[in-house]
Amino acid sequence: MTREKNVRMCMCCRVRLDKSELIKISKVENEFKVNFKGNSNGKSIYVCKNCLSKVIDKKLLDKALKCDVNDDVYEMLKNYEQAKNN
Ligand SMILES: [Zn+2]
Repeated sequence: MTREKNVRMCMCCRVRLDKSELIKISKVENEFKVNFKGNSNGKSIYVCKNCLSKVIDKKLLDKALKCDVNDDVYEMLKNYEQAKNN
């Protein structure tokens, strides 16, 4: 078995990918951050690029993070996705 230190699972389709291939959403002191670089004591989840629009449409973050995720966060993710496509 190779060590999978940098491999994380997409919370949506459960595919396992290298961290760099995934979008990280962290909850840091009641604030949500996309691809937050520092160490967060809060909960972080990972979403693959294929699932991002689905996660936004169905608001799957609420469930994954077990709290109400502000629309601003989904907006931030949408912008993130658009920025990637440009
Ligand atoms: Zn996925």
